[in-house]
Amino acid sequence: MNIKYKMKERVRRILLKKEELKNKERESKELECVHYWRIGPIQNGLSVGICKKCNESKEFQNTFLESHSWGKKKDNTKNDQ
Ligand SMILES: [Zn+2]
Repeated sequence: MNIKYKMKERVRRILLKKEELKNKERESKELECVHYWRIGPIQNGLSVGICKKCNESKEFQNTFLESHSWGKKKDNTKNDQ
């Protein structure tokens, strides 16, 4: 009668391990994503960006967008002499 208990215990542990792995996988996936935001048009001072990689969406404020120069780099190294 002890065997039944042992079997149950074993199954339970396997299931726990599986769940653990699943959670780890999910966590690392979230951590790994360096979001690549595709920013939509600005509406009412807000713009919705969708990550190209994981499809997460996020609202960006107009001010946030303005403070970041997307694609435009200030060229300080240029010599204008
Ligand atoms: Zn992402």
